[in-house]
Amino acid sequence: MDIATFQSLMKELYFVYDNERGIHRTALWLGEELGELMHELKKNPSKINKTAVAEELADIYAWSASIANLLDISLEDAITKKYPGKCGKCLHNPCICAKNLP
Ligand SMILES: [Zn+2]
Repeated sequence: MDIATFQSLMKELYFVYDNERGIHRTALWLGEELGELMHELKKNPSKINKTAVAEELADIYAWSASIANLLDISLEDAITKKYPGKCGKCLHNPCICAKNLP
């Protein structure tokens, strides 16, 4: 599924609820999911549950789409603009920014 299709699906499924909840409370849900991801990732790497991490990443992506929908932002356009097939800072692929650190 491409980014625009996913964002449209999230709008179709949840926009009515997201709109009722509003941007601030929707952002809190994104923060909640980030916290759940961090809870999993702070474990010893050998104890990390990859299924749980995958689910949290999916939730983060879904809440990001909800926020984008509330603000009428195209995630696909934003991602394409910020990451146009090369690093947005050094304009290389792969990125060489770390090579330029002192
Ligand atoms: Zn770079």
